[in-house]
Amino acid sequence: MQQEKKAGEGEPAKGASDKQAAGAGKPVSRRRPDRPFIPFIGFEDVIARCGHVEKFGLLPDGKDRFRKDRRKKVTDRDCKACREKKQQEEQEAADQRRAEKERKKADGGEQKPRRAKSPGREPGRLPDGSQFEVRYDAAKQLWNGTLTIPTPGGEPLSFTKSGSGLFPLLAALDKLYRGSLS
Ligand SMILES: [Zn+2]
Repeated sequence: MQQEKKAGEGEPAKGASDKQAAGAGKPVSRRRPDRPFIPFIGFEDVIARCGHVEKFGLLPDGKDRFRKDRRKKVTDRDCKACREKKQQEEQEAADQRRAEKERKKADGGEQKPRRAKSPGREPGRLPDGSQFEVRYDAAKQLWNGTLTIPTPGGEPLSFTKSGSGLFPLLAALDKLYRGSLS
């Protein structure tokens, strides 16, 4: 490849010494020594995807190995003006969506009425007399819990579960009971 360069006398080595040079307050050239700047020798009109004409820069024949690829890149996309216009439109659409969202939020989110609680049942509360029983098993490092729910005129409902965290266990038992209702 082109890695092997003729030992450039006086050329600073890459990497750490570059940083050192910068640290020493010396200006470091941004130009890559292996890629000399080649000015375009001319321009060609090519049609971009959008149908507009773009100026396509040509490098000297011997130094334009990728001319075909570069040209394809230009013809495969919209012209600069169209791309900028599109970007601006997308930006405006995004701004509009954001504003819309803010407005809805300010209105108190009226879009969807909050689900009304079903009458007769308070979903947030367990029935009267509900009982949690928990016992810690140190060997297994688990809480074993049972939730007992009395039912009017019937056998009480009972839910059993184990978990390492006490409060998550209580919440999970609560959820088991609610799951059994639906
Ligand atoms: Zn265009």
